[in-house]
Amino acid sequence: MAGNGIDFRSERYASEFFDPRVGFERRTSDIEVRIDPLTGRTARLYPPRGLLDLTAAEEATPPPAPAVPCFFCAPLVFEMTPRSPLLAKGRHAVGEAFLFPNLFPYTLESAVCVFTTSHDLDLLAYDDRRIADALRACRDFLHLAVRAHPPGLHTTILSNLRRSAGSSIAHPHVQALADPSPLDATRRTADGVAAYAARTGRRFHEDLVAAEFEAARGIARLRTFDWIAPFCPLGPYHVEAVGREPRALEELADHEIEDLADGLVRVFRGYRRVGVTALNLLFEAGASHTSDDRRFPPVLRVVARPHESGSYRSDRTALEVLGHEPGLDTRPEEVAESLRPEFADI
Ligand SMILES: [Zn+2]
Repeated sequence: MAGNGIDFRSERYASEFFDPRVGFERRTSDIEVRIDPLTGRTARLYPPRGLLDLTAAEEATPPPAPAVPCFFCAPLVFEMTPRSPLLAKGRHAVGEAFLFPNLFPYTLESAVCVFTTSHDLDLLAYDDRRIADALRACRDFLHLAVRAHPPGLHTTILSNLRRSAGSSIAHPHVQALADPSPLDATRRTADGVAAYAARTGRRFHEDLVAAEFEAARGIARLRTFDWIAPFCPLGPYHVEAVGREPRALEELADHEIEDLADGLVRVFRGYRRVGVTALNLLFEAGASHTSDDRRFPPVLRVVARPHESGSYRSDRTALEVLGHEPGLDTRPEEVAESLRPEFADI
C-alpha cells in the first residue's frame, strides 16, 4: 500500500474437474475475482485461454464497401451532415478533424467528429496530431454546450473504433456528449471519489496512480497524464490515462490534449503490435458545476474489442451483459508490461 487508502482486494478460487485432455486426471483452474477499489464492482480473471483472438489481425476481413455512400467521407460530410446552432458555421473544423451534430443524438448536446478524411484507418496510421485535433474539436464543442445550458452539463467523449466495437459507421470518428444526467459510470466515480475523500481526506486518483505504480501496473508518467493498466479491468487490455488535476473535459488546455494524444497513439501502436484492431474508448471527468468533493480529474479508458473477421465472436457474454462482470484472461500486470516499451523514449 502506497501510504494511502487504496485497497486492492481480491478473492481466489480453484475450480476442480477431471480433464479429458489428459486422461481425465484431476485438474484445477484458478479464478480470481478482483474488486474495484473505487466503486466495488468486480471482474473475473481466468488463466489464458485465447478469449480475445489476437492471431487474426493480419487476416482480419476488411469491411465490405458500404452499400450506400459514406456520409462521413468528403464531399458528403460537408453537404449531408446536420448543423448545430451552437457553432458559428454550424460545424467545426480543426485540422483534418471535422465536427457536426449527431443526426441521432444520445444526449442533450451530441456531436460526431471524424478523425480524418480517410474512410478506413489502421490503428498504426493514427498520429498524435490527428487525435489531438479531434479531441480539441470535441473540447470546443463541449465548452459551448456547457455555456449554453446553465448551470452546466456532464460531458463525455467516447469512440467505437470498428463495427466489431459497436460503431454503426465504419469511418473513424469520436463523439462528444453533454447532458444534464451523468453517465452511470461517471456518477459512480463521483460517488466513490466523494466517499473516499470523506473517509481519508485524500484525493482518490492521486492515491490510485501511486498504488498502481507500486503494484507494477504503471505504464508511464507523461507530462499531464499517468497511464496505468488498472487492477480491476472493465475489458481486455484495459488501460487508463489519469489526469493530475480535477478539470472538466471542456476545461482542458491544448497542452493537456496534446499530452493525452501522445499517450493514446502509443497505446494504439501497442495494441496493434499484440494483434488488437478494434477498441472502445471513453473519456470522463467530474463536471465543472458539481461540488468540489465530487470533482475528479479527466480519466480516459481504453479496452480492446474483437476483430472484424469471419471468426468473429462477441466478447460480451451473459456474464458481461446480464451479470455486470467482465470475464477476462489478460492480466493487467501483463498488459502494463506489454505496453511499457511503447513509452520507452519518455
Ligand atoms: Zn467514409
